[in-house]
Amino acid sequence: MTKVILKRKISNRVLNGHPWIFANEVNIVDGDSTGGDIVEVFTHDKKFIGKGYINPKSQILVRLLTRKKEDVINEDFFYQRLLTAWKYRQQIGYTENCRLIFGEADFMPQLIIDKFNDYFVIQTLALGMDVWKPAIVAAIEKIFSPKGIYERNDVPVRELEGLPQQKGFLSAPFDTKIIINENGLKFVVDVENGQKTGYFLDQQDNRRAIQHIVKGADVLGAFTYTGTFEIHAAHYGAKSVLGLDISENAVNQANNNSALNGYADICKFEAVNAFDVLKQWGKDGRKYDVVMLDPPSFTKTRENIQKAITGYKEINLRGIKLIKPGGFLVTSSCTNLVGPDMFLEIIQMAAKDARRQLRQVCFQAQSADHPIIREWENTQYLKFLIVQVL
Ligand code: SAH
Repeated sequence: MTKVILKRKISNRVLNGHPWIFANEVNIVDGDSTGGDIVEVFTHDKKFIGKGYINPKSQILVRLLTRKKEDVINEDFFYQRLLTAWKYRQQIGYTENCRLIFGEADFMPQLIIDKFNDYFVIQTLALGMDVWKPAIVAAIEKIFSPKGIYERNDVPVRELEGLPQQKGFLSAPFDTKIIINENGLKFVVDVENGQKTGYFLDQQDNRRAIQHIVKGADVLGAFTYTGTFEIHAAHYGAKSVLGLDISENAVNQANNNSALNGYADICKFEAVNAFDVLKQWGKDGRKYDVVMLDPPSFTKTRENIQKAITGYKEINLRGIKLIKPGGFLVTSSCTNLVGPDMFLEIIQMAAKDARRQLRQVCFQAQSADHPIIREWENTQYLKFLIVQVL
C-alpha cells in the first residue's frame, strides 16, 4: 500500500484527530498515488497515523478514514460505519428524519446522508468517497430496506476533486416529493430540486425553540425557503405570519406547506429581496412582535469574511428596527467561518446601531444529529440565537 510520509512538524489539526492532510504537509509519497486509492499515513519518523483516501488533484491530499492500523477499508468497513452512526442517532432520539452521516464528525469525510423517513439522500463530495458509493448504497439497503435513495451530487465543490456534478436515483425511481413529519407538522421535501439535500434538518430543534415567544404575535420571517419556521410559528399560536424569500419556487413550496397544515389563512409568503424590503419597511415604520432571519451563508472562503460580517450585521440591523419594544429577534447564521463569539458580537453591533438593548433567551447550534467535535472547527457551523429586543 502507498505510504504518505508527513513533514517533521505536523499541525495541531492532525494531532487533534482531524482527518484532513494538506499537500503542503506531506514530505514524500512512497508508491502510486492514483486518485481514490487507500493509502497509509506516517509521521516523519515512521509512526502510523491512519489510513485514508488520496487525491493528487485536491489540495487536501489525503482524508483519513481511520486511525486504527488493523482496520481494513472495504465494503464491510462502510457498513459498520453506517451502523454505528445509525445507533448513535437512535440513542440521541433522531430516528424518523435525521442527518445519518455528517461527514467528518461521523469519521466519513465528505459524505453526507440525510434520512427522510424511508428515503435517503446522499452526497459524496470527494473522489475517495465517491468510489465507495456502491458500498454506501449497499449498506443503506442492508440496514434500512429503504423506499428510495437519491444522489444530490450537483455541488460545485466536487469539481475541485475532478468529479462531475450530477444528481439522480441510486435505487428504483420514486416520487421525489416526499412528505415528512416534524414537530407534529407536515413538510414536503423535494429531494430532486430542493436546496442542498432538499430540507434543512439542522434547524429541527431550533424551530421548536420559538414555541413560547410567537403566541398571539405578528411574525415576520425572512429567508424562509419552504416556510418551515413560519408554519411552526402559526402552529404555536401566532396571530399573523409573513414569510419572505427571493426564490419564487421556495415561496410556492412554502404556500403548499402552509396549506398542507391548514395555516393558509395565517401564513402569507412573498417572493422579494429581504434586504430591500426590510430597509423600506423600517422607513415606513412597520412593526412586528417577532422577526426571524435565516440567511444563506454569505461566504464560503476566509477572504470574504468581512463581506459576510457586513451582510449579517446589515440584515440584523434592519430586522431589529422592525421589532416592537419587548419583541423578539430569532436569528441564525450557517457559515462555519463566523464562529459563535463573532456572531454574538455582530448582533450586538447591530443592536448598538439601532440603539436597542438585547436580552438573550437562548443560543444554540445545529441539532444533535449533526454532532460537533469541539476542536474540529468546521463541524460547528450553525448559530441560532433568540434575543428580546428592549
Ligand atoms: N429557514 C429555512 C432555510 C433558509 S435557507 C429553513 O429552515 O428551511 C436561505 C434562503 O434564503 C433560501 O431559500 C434563499 O432562496 C433565500 N435568500 C437568499 N438571498 C435572499 C434575499 N436577498 N432575500 C430573500 N431571500 C433570500
